[in-house]
Amino acid sequence: MKSLWLFFAGMLLAVVFSSAGCGKSEGEAAHATNPVPETKEAEEAARSTPNYEVGLYIFILAGFLGYHVISRVPPLLHTPLMSATNAISGISLIGSLVVAGADYSIFSTFLGFIAVACSSTNVVGGFLITDRMLKMFKSERDKSEARSWARPQIIVPTAIGLLLVGAGIYWLEHLKNIPARVVLSNLYIVSSVLFILGLKGLSSPKHARKGMFLAEFGMLVAIVGTLFDPAIKNYVWIVIGLVIGSTAGATMGLRIPMTAVPQRTALSHSLGALAATLVGIAHYLLYRDHFVALEMLPLGFQVVIGGLTFTGSLMAAAKLQELLPGAPITYKFQNASNFLLLGVLVLTFIYLIFVPTAVGLFFLMVLLALGFGFLLVVPIGAADMPVVIALLNSYAGLADAAMGFVLMNKIQIITGSLDGTSGFLLSLLMCRAMNRSAVNVLFGAFGKIEKEEQGPASEAKGTVRSIVPDEVGVLLDSARSVIVVPGYGMAVAQAQYAVSDLAKMLNKRGIDVKYAIHPVAGRMPGHMNVLLAEANVPYDQLYEMEQINPYFAEADIALVVGANDVTNPAAKNNKSSPLYGMPILEVDRAKSIIVLKRSMRPGFAGVDNDLYYNSKCMMLFGDAKESLNKLFAALKG
Ligand code: NAP
Repeated sequence: MKSLWLFFAGMLLAVVFSSAGCGKSEGEAAHATNPVPETKEAEEAARSTPNYEVGLYIFILAGFLGYHVISRVPPLLHTPLMSATNAISGISLIGSLVVAGADYSIFSTFLGFIAVACSSTNVVGGFLITDRMLKMFKSERDKSEARSWARPQIIVPTAIGLLLVGAGIYWLEHLKNIPARVVLSNLYIVSSVLFILGLKGLSSPKHARKGMFLAEFGMLVAIVGTLFDPAIKNYVWIVIGLVIGSTAGATMGLRIPMTAVPQRTALSHSLGALAATLVGIAHYLLYRDHFVALEMLPLGFQVVIGGLTFTGSLMAAAKLQELLPGAPITYKFQNASNFLLLGVLVLTFIYLIFVPTAVGLFFLMVLLALGFGFLLVVPIGAADMPVVIALLNSYAGLADAAMGFVLMNKIQIITGSLDGTSGFLLSLLMCRAMNRSAVNVLFGAFGKIEKEEQGPASEAKGTVRSIVPDEVGVLLDSARSVIVVPGYGMAVAQAQYAVSDLAKMLNKRGIDVKYAIHPVAGRMPGHMNVLLAEANVPYDQLYEMEQINPYFAEADIALVVGANDVTNPAAKNNKSSPLYGMPILEVDRAKSIIVLKRSMRPGFAGVDNDLYYNSKCMMLFGDAKESLNKLFAALKG
C-alpha cells in the first residue's frame, strides 16, 4: 500500500514537473537566467509572475516522497544518508553556474564564481565520502564472495552517457530548433528521478552504492546539461570555480578521517548555504527594480535561511573541530536578546516584501541573518551538535528550495525539499532516541545545567569493582557469548580496529560475538556503524537496540567499550535522572559486565552511571584502545 502511495506521488510529481517545465515557465526561466532586458516592453514580455503555486506543489510532493524514501533508511546508514543528501543538495551548483557564466555584471560573476566553488566542493566531497563509507558496509557473505565493483568499471559508460547528453542537446537545439531550456527542464526530470532512486538505494546496504552511482550520474547529467544554458556566455570563471571546488571536495572526501565526518558535514552545509546566499544577493542586485509581486518572499527566505545556516554551520564545525570551546556559552537574557534579533529580522523581511527596492535594508537583513545563525549555535554544547547539524542540514535544504522558487528551477525545489525532509527526520529521530525535545536542544544549554542536577552521592550507591586485563582475558575465554557495546569513547580512542581484532579472536575460539548499537551512541546518528564498518566488522553482526535487548539476559559478558549514557539504568529506574525515559541498551541484564573507560567521569549527559555500582559490573580503567590491546595479548598468551 505504501509503495502504491509512493508511486502515485512520484507520478504526480513528474506530471506537475513536466507541465511546469514547458510552456509558461519558459518566461520564468528567461527571467531567472537572462540579463535585464533593455526596453520596458522587452522587460514586460520576458517577465511573467513566477508560478509559485506549481513550485509549492512540487515542494510538498517531493517532501512527501522524500519522507517515505528517507524513513526507510535503516539507522545503520544514517551517516551516509547525511552526506548523500548533502551532496545532492549541491545541485544549487546549476544556479551558480548560470550566475557565474552569464555576463550580468562583474560583481555577480564574482559571486557566482564563489558559489560554483562552494557547491562543487559539496557535490564532489559529498559523493566521495558517501561512497567511501558505503564501500565499508559489507556482510559476512559479501566478504567471503569478495563481491565488489570498482569505480573504473562505470567510468566509460558514464562518459559515453554524458557525451550523448551533450550531443543530444546540441542536436535538438541546432537541428530541430527545440530551445535548450525545454530540453534542460526535461533533463532535470531525469536527474530528479535518479536522485530519488539513489536515496531509495540507501534502504539497504546491499543496493546503497549502486543507488548512489545513479544519483551521481543524475548530478552529472544536470551539470553537463546546464553548461548548454543559453544564458551562459563565458566559461572561464565556471571552469576555475569547478576546478577549485572539485579539488577541495576531493581532498575532503578522500582524506578526512571517519571520526571527523560530523565537522565535515557541518562545513559543507555552510558552503551550500553560502552559495545560496550569494546567488540570492546577485539576483537581488540584478532584478530589484523589476520585482514582480511577492518575488521578495522566496528570495528573502533564500538569503535569510542561507545566511543563518552559513554562520551557524561554521560555528558548529569550529566547535566540533575544537577550534572553539565546546561548552555551551550562556549569558543573561540570551534567549530574550536572540528573540529580539529575530523579531527585527522578521520585520525587515516583511517591509522588504512590500518595498523590495530598499537596498540598505536588504543588506541589513542579510547581516542580521548572519548574526542570528552565529548566536543560535553559541549556547549549544559541542555534544548537542549532531542534532544541530541535522537541523542545519534541513535549513540548508530549505535555502536551496527557496533558491529553486526564485529561479523557478524545479530540480532545486525537489532536492531542497528532499534535503529538508531528511535533516528534519534525522533530528527528530535523534531527539526521540535521547528523550529530549528539539526546543530543549536549541535553547536548553544541556550538559551545563544537567551537571548541577546530579543524583545522590556516589558513596551512597555502593562500591565500584575494578579488574585487570589478565582477569578479563580469563573471563572472556570461558564465555560462550559476548555482546560488545561500543560508545563515544571507542571513537575517541580510535579503538574500532582493536575491538574488531578481539572479536575475531573470540570468534575463532567458538565464542559468539554480537555488537549492540544504540541509535545515539557516539556523536552522530550511525556513528558506531561507520566506525565498525571501517574496521571490517560485517554489518550483519551489528544489532539495533530493539533487536539486541532480548539477547542480553543470555549473554555471558557485556563488554562496554567507551559507552556510558546509553547503558545507564537510571534512564529506566530513576525518575529524577535527566536521562529518565531515554531508551537504553539493557546491559545490566547480562551475566557479567565489563566496562572499558578511563575514569569514573560521566558521559555526555553529565550524570553518574548506576551501572558501575552493579555487583555484576567490573571496570577496566584505561584508554579503550590500550586496554583492548592488553586484552588481546592476555588472550593470546
Ligand atoms: P557518552 O555517554 O558520552 O560516554 C562516553 C564515555 O567514553 C565517557 O564516559 C568517557 O569516560 C569514555 N571515554 C572517552 N574517551 C575514552 C577513551 N579514550 N578510552 C576509553 N573511554 C573513553 O557516550 P555514549 O554512551 O556513546 O552516549 C552518547 C551520548 O551522546 C548520549 O548521551 C547521547 O544522547 C548523546 N548524543 C548523541 C548523538 C548521536 O547522534 N549519536 C547526538 C547528540 C547527543 P572517561 O572520560 O572516564 O574515559
